[in-house]
Amino acid sequence: MQLFEKLIDHREAVSLVLENAQRLPVENVPLVNARGLALAEDVRARFDSPPFDNSAVDGYALRSTDATEVGRIFRVVDEAPAGRPAAKSVGQGEAIKIFTGGVIPRGADAVVMVENTSGWGEEFELKKAVLPRNNLRKRGEDVCRGDIILRAGTEIGAPEIALAATQGYGELPVYRRPKVVVLSTGTELVEPGVRDLRPGEIFDSNSLALLAQALDAGADARRLYAASDDARVLRDAMEDALSSADVVVTSGGVSVGEKDLVKGTLRDIGVEQVFWGIKLKPGKPVFFGVREEARFFGLPGNPVSAMVCFELFIRSALMKMMGCEDKRRPRIKVYFDEDVENKFGRMHAMRVHLLKTEKGWRAQSVGAQGSGLVSSLTKADALALIGPESEGVRAGEPVEAVVLREEVLFD
Ligand code: AMP
Ligand code: MG
Repeated sequence: MQLFEKLIDHREAVSLVLENAQRLPVENVPLVNARGLALAEDVRARFDSPPFDNSAVDGYALRSTDATEVGRIFRVVDEAPAGRPAAKSVGQGEAIKIFTGGVIPRGADAVVMVENTSGWGEEFELKKAVLPRNNLRKRGEDVCRGDIILRAGTEIGAPEIALAATQGYGELPVYRRPKVVVLSTGTELVEPGVRDLRPGEIFDSNSLALLAQALDAGADARRLYAASDDARVLRDAMEDALSSADVVVTSGGVSVGEKDLVKGTLRDIGVEQVFWGIKLKPGKPVFFGVREEARFFGLPGNPVSAMVCFELFIRSALMKMMGCEDKRRPRIKVYFDEDVENKFGRMHAMRVHLLKTEKGWRAQSVGAQGSGLVSSLTKADALALIGPESEGVRAGEPVEAVVLREEVLFD
């Protein structure tokens, strides 16, 4: 059995994880698959957009010099629906029926809305004077050929997808999503929904929670089976995971018990330890290691520890790999109404509710803070970081908190 040699500070653990997380190679992906990712290169307009002068309304294209007075009669000589330019051009006293997006015909320099005429027909009467360029959308008024329309680093959402699509791009260059494999360990684990529990068993909730967290972060994540606490089984499972992933996340078996075989197995298969043990509650036994390009996180089995450690260490590493360093959970200052003790000698990431008051954000413990209390996380808006240096915090003193439910920040 091996005991913790040296527990490291939570911030040091974060820096070590980030130092060992690099952007993944750039690849071109279909537009919608780039959603939520950072653009890896500037994207330029290939042509003026809109690509031709077109009508902003349904009405008639005409010469504005013919249309300075109400009461004028126009003869309709052709039509220009969207997608089908008119064959004829507009002569004096003539008009061409046109619809939104239709190409402005030769000879015309303005469009009158049908509402400002006597209506659809072979002829119409003008009800309102028209000025040059009325209701015209000019070629290039949105973007011009050669313009940088999206800058490298921009996070891609629906508007960026729309803009790239207007320029005919079918794909965008992004940093590849990290491939994450989640694996839980423990002989007691049973897949939920498959069968009932036998004495001593529990359902495997961690691998599902961690998978959901990895997908939320934008990773290309999948889950392996739950491995029993058996050296052979573990070794095969870890090899399997490491051979196909950028990041492997395991839960359980990483503490100092006799059945905690994860560390030994990792050593045997050549995973180099970066750290093991953090001055953190929940989450003391966290292991982080590297093997070639793969990164390995061994999280504790206690469900709250596993999920909290994912939030504090893994999420930011995945974001960095995708070039989205800035897309972090919001961090805010909170205060407690009463003194809060911290007797652990480790930083306490306390599950709290948040309440907006005139003094700022008030934090309140969700209740018991045991690391097996899964229900407690469903009640938490944030993790208040009660530092290891202090004995705790005094009432009213500012404390940093990682917001897990951003919705609470908005009214
Ligand atoms: P361990 O870190 O393996 O010593 O596990 C610590 C506690 O977490 C034990 O009570 C385990 O039964 C529980 N646990 C381990 N893995 C899981 C899991 N995948 N889902 C739910 N609970 C787990
Ligand atoms: Mg275990």
